[in-house]
Amino acid sequence: MKVSELERMSRSAVSEISALSDAGKLEEYRVRWLGGKGLIRRARAAIKEHQGPERVEFAKGVNRVAEEITEVLARAADRIEDEATARRIAEDWIDPSLPATAPRRGAPHPVRVVELRCVEIMGRLGFEQAEGPEVETSYYNFDALNIPRDHPARDMQDTFWVDEQRLLRTHTTSVQARLLAQAEGRPVKVVVAGRVYRNEAVDATHLAMFHQLDGFWVDQGLTFAHLKGVAVHLARELYGDRRVRFKPKSYPYTEPSVGIDVECGLCHGSGCAACHESGWVTIMGAGMIHRNVLKEFGYDPDRVSGFAFGWGLSRMTTQMYGLAKLRPVYRGDLRLLRALDGRPALCV
Ligand SMILES: [Zn+2]
Repeated sequence: MKVSELERMSRSAVSEISALSDAGKLEEYRVRWLGGKGLIRRARAAIKEHQGPERVEFAKGVNRVAEEITEVLARAADRIEDEATARRIAEDWIDPSLPATAPRRGAPHPVRVVELRCVEIMGRLGFEQAEGPEVETSYYNFDALNIPRDHPARDMQDTFWVDEQRLLRTHTTSVQARLLAQAEGRPVKVVVAGRVYRNEAVDATHLAMFHQLDGFWVDQGLTFAHLKGVAVHLARELYGDRRVRFKPKSYPYTEPSVGIDVECGLCHGSGCAACHESGWVTIMGAGMIHRNVLKEFGYDPDRVSGFAFGWGLSRMTTQMYGLAKLRPVYRGDLRLLRALDGRPALCV
C-alpha cells in the first residue's frame, strides 16, 4: 500500500462522510476506517513493510489520514445528532409565546350572587347586614314572633327539632326577634340573609334547606307608605321597570300583611307557564310588624312602628337565572354552576 493511495481513499471518504445524514451509515464508515480490522489498523501494520525514509513518510502519512478521518467522523456525528434534535424539535414544536392555559377559577354561587345584590341594594337604603344562629330557640323562632303554640308552622312535620326547646330555624325572621331583643327600645334597620330549614318532602321546588332574606325597620313614624316605597324600590332595582302589585296576605307577625308581585318578565302580564298563567310572579311577603311583637320587645306600639319583608333567596335565584327547578342549584353540579357563571340574571 502506498501513502498516495491511502490519501486518495481518505479524500473520497471525507467527502462521502460530510454528505451523510444517517447515524447507521456513519458507523459503517467508522468501522471501515477506525475499527479493529479497519484501514488505519491495516495501514499501521503495513508500516514495517517499508524501509528507510520511505517508512517514515508512510508512517507520517498514515497518522495524518488517521487524524483527519477521526476528526471528520466526530464532526459528522455531532452534525447528525444536531439534525436529529432539530427534527424532533420541529415535530414536537411548542410555541412558547402562546399564553398559558389558565387554570379554572371558582365563582360565587348563584344564590350568593343574588344575596350580595339584594344586600347591596338594601345597604344603599341604610339597612345594615346582620346574622344569627341557625340552631334557634323556639322563643325567637316562634313565640316572640306572635306565632302561637297551636300554629301549624310549629308542627313536628314542618320543623326540625334539636330537643324540647331548640330547633333549626324555619325562617331568618328569628334574627329579627334576636335583634329587637338586643336593641332595648332603640331603632333598628337591618337585613338578614341565611339558611333556613323545613321538614318538607323534597321535590323539584321544595327542599329541606334553602336560603331566605329578611329586612326590617323599626323606628318612630314609620307607616305603610315607607314599606311600599322600600318594596317598590327593591323590585325596580332587581327586576327593572315592571309593574308591581300588592295583595292582602296573612302572616302572624305582621298586620296588615301583603304579598308583593312583579309582572312576569317572560309574558309581560299576558300569562305563561313560568307564571302559572297569572301574568305575575310573587317576589316577597311583607307587612307592618305586629303590635304584639313590638310589645314583646319593650317598644310602645303607639309610639313606635316598623315593617318587615322577606323573600326566598333560593326561589328568587331560580327565577333570575331562568331555572325551572330549585334542587339543581344545591346539588353542586359543576356543569350547571359553570354554565351559570357570569350569566346575566334573567329577572323572570
Ligand atoms: Zn308569564
